[in-house]
Amino acid sequence: MTDNPFAHPSTLPFQYPPFDRIRDEDYLPAFAAGMREQLREVEAIAHNPSPATFANTIVALERAGRLLERVETTFSNLNACNTDPQMQQIDTEMAPKLAAQRDAIHLDPALWARVATLYRERDALHLDAESLQLLTRYHTIFVRAGAQLSAEQKARLRDLNQQISSLTTRFKQNVLKATADGAVVVDSLSDLEGLSAEQIGAAAQAAKARGLEGKWLITLQNTTNQPVLAQLGNRALRERIYRASITRASAGATNNTVVIAQLVRLRAERAALLGYGTHAAYELEDESAGTPQAVREMIAQVAPAALARAKAEAADIQQLIDAQAAGAGTAPFTLQPWDWSFYADQVRKARYDFDQASVAPYFELDHVLKDGVFYAAQQLYGLSFRERTDLPVYHADVRVFEVFDASERPLALFLADYFARDNKQGGAWMTSYVEQSRLLEQRPVVANHLNIPKPAPGQPVLLTFDEVTTMFHEFGHALHGMLSNVHYPLLSGTHVPRDFVEYPSQYNEMWAREPQVVAHYARHYQSGAAMPPELLAKVLAAQRFNQGYATTEYLEAALLDQAWHQIGVGAAPTAAEVPAFEAAALKASGLDYPPVPPRYHSTYFAHIFEGGYSAGYYAYLWSEVLARDTGEWFRTHGGLTRDNGEYLRTQVLARGRSDDPQALFRSFYGRAPEIAPLLEYRGLAGTSGG
Ligand SMILES: [Zn+2]
Repeated sequence: MTDNPFAHPSTLPFQYPPFDRIRDEDYLPAFAAGMREQLREVEAIAHNPSPATFANTIVALERAGRLLERVETTFSNLNACNTDPQMQQIDTEMAPKLAAQRDAIHLDPALWARVATLYRERDALHLDAESLQLLTRYHTIFVRAGAQLSAEQKARLRDLNQQISSLTTRFKQNVLKATADGAVVVDSLSDLEGLSAEQIGAAAQAAKARGLEGKWLITLQNTTNQPVLAQLGNRALRERIYRASITRASAGATNNTVVIAQLVRLRAERAALLGYGTHAAYELEDESAGTPQAVREMIAQVAPAALARAKAEAADIQQLIDAQAAGAGTAPFTLQPWDWSFYADQVRKARYDFDQASVAPYFELDHVLKDGVFYAAQQLYGLSFRERTDLPVYHADVRVFEVFDASERPLALFLADYFARDNKQGGAWMTSYVEQSRLLEQRPVVANHLNIPKPAPGQPVLLTFDEVTTMFHEFGHALHGMLSNVHYPLLSGTHVPRDFVEYPSQYNEMWAREPQVVAHYARHYQSGAAMPPELLAKVLAAQRFNQGYATTEYLEAALLDQAWHQIGVGAAPTAAEVPAFEAAALKASGLDYPPVPPRYHSTYFAHIFEGGYSAGYYAYLWSEVLARDTGEWFRTHGGLTRDNGEYLRTQVLARGRSDDPQALFRSFYGRAPEIAPLLEYRGLAGTSGG
C-alpha cells in the first residue's frame, strides 16, 4: 500500500485526488486496506472500556474510515463518468462487500448500545444544535439499518442487502451496455435531413469510433424521448430511434426485467423485515414527504392540470399534421410518441417564430459557463472563479476551477465535465470528491457531469436552452456542496433528503432565464453581439411551451416508481410479468396517454433501480415546489442581489443537514411551501382538470 495513491490524504490543494497517479490496479488493494482500517476503528469505538460519550462514539465515528472514504468516493465517481471494463468488474466485486461492511457496522450490538444510550440521554449531554442533530441522525440511521432486529433477522437482512446491492450493479451495467448497443446506425446521409452540419459531423465521428466508417451513428440519451427526434424529418428513422430507446435492456444479455422482478421482491421483503408494509413506506419515512399518501396527494395536485395541458398540446400537433398532409396531398396519420417532438418543435417555431439554429450561436458553452453560470454566482454570493490547468485530470475534456469567496479566500475546487462519452452514464449529475467539514478540516471538491454531444474538432460547442438550463441546475447542486459551512461530514452540503436535494438546483435554474443574467451570457460566439431582445423574449416565452408533455412524462415515471415500491412481497411480478405490471400501473395512474410515454420505462429507469431514488423519483417535483416558491421570494425582494444571495446562503445553502431541512426552508421563507408558483412557472396555472 505504500505507493498506493489512496494510502494517504492527497497532498494536492483541497485534497484534490491525484488522478494522474491512479491506476485501475490501485482500487482493490485500497478498498481492502480501507475496509480493514474502518472495521478496526469502529471495533475500537464499540469496545471502548470508557462509558459512551458524544466525543468517543459519535465524533469518533465521523472521523473513522477516511481511507475507505477516499477510495470509495473517487472510484464511484470515476466509475460513473469514465468507466472501463476492469472498473465495472471491480464494481461488481465490491458492491456486495461494501454492503456487508455497512451492515457489520450498523448491526454491531455493542456499537448500537452506545448510540442508543447517548440518544436516550441526549437532553443531559447539553449538545449544541448541530451536534444534537448529528446524534439524532446516527440513531435514525442505525434503527433504519436494522440495529434493533434479532440476531436471526439481522442475518437475513445482511443476505438481502448483498443480493440487492449486486442486482443494482447488474441493472446499471445492463443499462450502460444496452444504451450504447442501442445506438442507431444510419446508412444514408439523406436520412439525416434536419440535423445541423455539426450534428452530422458528430454522428459520423461516433460511427467512425465504432469502426463504421462512412456511416452515421445516432447514440441514445438516457430518457425515453430522444432529443434528436425534434429535428429528424424522416418518420421511419424517428420510429426506429424511438423503438431502440424504449426496448433498451428488455431482452437478451442485458435483460433488466429479470433484475427488476428480483429487486422489487427483495426490497419488499427487506421492508417487511424492518417493520414496514412496503419499500415506499420505508423509504418515505426518512424524507420530507413522510408517507406514500403525502406523495400521492402532491402528485394529484399537479396531474390533472398537466394531462389537460398535454392533451391541448397534442390537439395543436394533430392539427398541424393534418394540415401538412392536406397541403401535400398525403395520407394523414395519428400522432405517435416519435412524432411529438418533431411537430411540437414546428408548433413552437410557428408560435414563437424562432428555431434552434437561430438561437444556438448565442449559447456557446464557455460564454454560458463564465458569463452566465459563474456570473450569477458572483452577483449573488460574491464568488469568483479561476481556471487551474496545473492539476491533473482523469480525461482531457475535464476543466478545473478554483472558487474564491468575496474576500478572496479559496473556497472550493469545481470540476466541469460536460461532454458525452461512451463510458459515461447518461444524464447530468453533480458529485463530490471531497466534502466540506470543519471537523475534518476539509474544503469541498465538487464536479458537474453533463452529456453534451462533443462537436467535431474545431467546431464551437453550441447549446440548446435546455442544456443551458441543465448547466445552471447542476451548478445549483455544486453550490450546495461548495457553500456548505458545517462541522460534521455526515451533515455536509448535499446530505439532505432526496426530496430536498433538488431544491437548490432547481432554484438555480431560474437564473438561466433572468433577464440580467441571460443578457450577460447570450452572446453570438463569432461576433460577440448580444442576442436581439425580441429573439430573447421569444426564447424565454417559449419556456412554458410543451410543459404539459414534460410534466406528464415526469409524473408517469414518478407514479411508476411508486407502483413498483408500494407493493408487498406477494405482489411482486415475475420477470415475464414485468411489462404487464408496468402497463397496469400506468393505466391505474390515470395519466396513461399513449402520445406521452413515461420519461423512463422500467428497464432503463436507472434513478429507481440503481441510483438512490427508489420510491423517490417524485422528489424532483417536491423540491421544485420549494424552488419556485424561492423564485417568488426573490421576485418580491429585488431579484439578483448580493443581499438576497447572502440571505439564502446563510439560511439554506450553507446549512447542509445541520437542521431539519423543512425547518430551514420555513425559517428562510417564513411559512410552509405552496404549490401555486410551480404551476405558474410551468405554465400550468389556470388549466382546468378533467
Ligand atoms: Zn438535480
